[in-house]
Amino acid sequence: MRNATNHTKSASFLRTATLGILCVCLPVLVAAPVRPNPSHAAGPLRVYIVTDLEGASGVYKFAQTREANNPLGEKAKEYLMGDIAAVVRGLRSAGVTDIVVLDGHGSQAFVPELMAPGARYITGLPRPGHLTGLDGSFAGMIQLGAHAMMGTLDGVLCHTQSSRSENRYWYNGVESGELAQCAAIAGHYDVPTIMVTGDEATCREARQFFGTDCVAVAVKRGLSREAAELYPFEETRQALYEGARQAVAAIGRCKPYKLTLPIQAKKEYLDPSNSNSPRRIVKEGVVDDVLKLLDF
Ligand SMILES: [Zn+2]
Repeated sequence: MRNATNHTKSASFLRTATLGILCVCLPVLVAAPVRPNPSHAAGPLRVYIVTDLEGASGVYKFAQTREANNPLGEKAKEYLMGDIAAVVRGLRSAGVTDIVVLDGHGSQAFVPELMAPGARYITGLPRPGHLTGLDGSFAGMIQLGAHAMMGTLDGVLCHTQSSRSENRYWYNGVESGELAQCAAIAGHYDVPTIMVTGDEATCREARQFFGTDCVAVAVKRGLSREAAELYPFEETRQALYEGARQAVAAIGRCKPYKLTLPIQAKKEYLDPSNSNSPRRIVKEGVVDDVLKLLDF
């Protein structure tokens, strides 16, 4: 409760900031050119997008993200595709020549007929590697539709890997959510996280881990784990489009997120074998290859 006022204040500030982007940019009908990233000026400019469903516009309850083949879930996937399309359009308008979009949601969330042109889309399981197709040729990574780590009070649908077993992870003593986990894998390839989209809590977590050069676009503000103030799609899609353009301009300033090796790792989770009175299990160990981070 101590931080409730601060949260509210920073959330309304962020909301204003998001709308500020809109006010500035709405009258601009022709997109202004984005300053190209000097390190990739000569070759193709490639951006990798990893998506999740919980942080999409309009998504705020697990009934939209967990059960397969239900009408709520199908609509939620359409919301995600709209967010992806806005970001893809923004990246293309800023001069990105190659975009790979990975369906990172556990039960998959792409709706193929809604794929915006100008990107390549990867979905389905199993597939090689956690961030399939990512390598050092990408100038930046975007985490789209992301969510805050397990235990975030105002984090809509917050969890880390498994919401059911309430997993929590610490690397070198720092509690880390999926934002940091994905960014650390990209960091192995020296690819910086240039943009994060999700709720206000996700944006706050992104700034904590990646600094303020990483563009953070909020599409809703959490009130609890399954309640939110949702922002209208017309506004979120415009902010996502503009955010993607800003992220391209920020590529040169964003640093890859790297974990010092070997990683001292700790994981806490509920014992799945005893659902009546679940017991917390603590596992500690050393991870010496960041690409195996999620196997721990
Ligand atoms: Zn997730």
